[in-house]
Amino acid sequence: MHAGRSEASSAAGDGGLLVLLVEDEQSIAEPFMAVLRRAGFRTELAGTGAEAITLVSAHDPDVVLLDLGLPDMDGRDVCRRIRAECDVPIIMVTASGAVTDRVVGLELGADDYVVKPFAPHEVIARIRAVMRRGRREATGGERQLRVQDLTIDAGARRAWRAEVELELTRKEFDLLLRLARDAGRVVGREVLMSDVWDVNWFGSTKTLDVHIGWLRRKLGDDPEAPRYLRTVRGVGFMLVADGPQAQ
Ligand code: CA
Repeated sequence: MHAGRSEASSAAGDGGLLVLLVEDEQSIAEPFMAVLRRAGFRTELAGTGAEAITLVSAHDPDVVLLDLGLPDMDGRDVCRRIRAECDVPIIMVTASGAVTDRVVGLELGADDYVVKPFAPHEVIARIRAVMRRGRREATGGERQLRVQDLTIDAGARRAWRAEVELELTRKEFDLLLRLARDAGRVVGREVLMSDVWDVNWFGSTKTLDVHIGWLRRKLGDDPEAPRYLRTVRGVGFMLVADGPQAQ
């Protein structure tokens, strides 16, 4: 078992963003770390899930690249444990590209995923995309949005329904916030995929429907007669701006 080795001091891009790579296969980790460093990132390597959890606390990385197939733990458990501790962006690396892995991973709070074998430049583009989104969130400085009896605080990343706080995952929150910004208007599927996920999203937009379903459940909404989230078939979704209407 190899220990986490900091490459920070020898990094070409000193002062760059710190990427924690969680990968047990040396033949993948070594060349990929070199590519990351050439791109100006600082890198740390964890070869096990336990090590990844320790290094996240110890080094506060800017982004985590998490291989799901680890020797000691299921990568999804690692994702859950990291997410319970902090809001660092997590990009999952899956071997199979199995849709269930992706959906479960995204449910656990991962921000994006890539499928092995991946092209390094693709992963670097994903890293930059999640970092951009993170910065946008951090500098949003928005006041609270109010739609019906919902209150959404973009800065604090918290939401309430009738004074009761909603327990939302990152993506559910992002989705609700995006829809709330255009409350009363239909937001297209592509716009949601692009703003909440990534313009370079290669997966199925089924992910969007899955997240809408989760969000509906947390809002206590009835898909047949939605009070909050209305589906406009083939177009997109709308957060209904007005209060409940006479049925
Ligand atoms: Ca592996």
